[in-house]
Amino acid sequence: MSNELRPREQAAAGLEQLAALVRAQAWRSDASTSPLPPTQAQVLRMLAAAPQGLRARPLSDRLSVSPASLSDSLKAMEAKGWIRRTLDLDDRRAWVVRLSRAGRNLAARLQRPGQGMAGLLQGLDDADVGALLRVSQLLVAEAQRQGMATGLRTCLGCRFFRPFAGGNAGKPHFCDFIGAAFGDAELRTDCAEQVPADDDVLAVNQERFRLRNPP
Ligand code: SF4
Repeated sequence: MSNELRPREQAAAGLEQLAALVRAQAWRSDASTSPLPPTQAQVLRMLAAAPQGLRARPLSDRLSVSPASLSDSLKAMEAKGWIRRTLDLDDRRAWVVRLSRAGRNLAARLQRPGQGMAGLLQGLDDADVGALLRVSQLLVAEAQRQGMATGLRTCLGCRFFRPFAGGNAGKPHFCDFIGAAFGDAELRTDCAEQVPADDDVLAVNQERFRLRNPP
């Protein structure tokens, strides 16, 4: 018994095992593409959710990699024809990165339901997916609090999010942006409409979201 991991360590070991399995699968990718490094896969996913393009700085912040490391990844992706870089019209010193047609096709393949983590979640019912999304929100908030990343676009970090204000057990939360109540299974981990909450709103929302017995 003394060698057994405690609950938090078991959970951490499980998450790390899954992440390693998915990373290994991402490197194998599918037969029609060469192995895909995890950072490049993440960049493809982020750019697929931002058709207007993203600057390099927010990309490196959200990925928690150094600007130099991101620059290497972007150069490799540009050489493969997956991205285009253009000067930002608002700031001629900055570049905006967008997916090319080939990059969009590859990103769509990565997002197929059978790929990566998504493939592992296929067997879960909505309640378990909702529970996982709830925990994901809390883990992303903790990652940001610990300085591991910034700029992640979750509901819990959003100024429009009102936890337990939906007035309905099935849809306990409320989004002020769309003006509708929603449940845990509809929590967003990467929402294009997200606007970061200020520190006071964030603290109140996090405390409320953690409640076991919502008001
Ligand atoms: S705008 Fe998006 S991130 Fe913000 S609360 Fe609504 S759904 Fe969530």
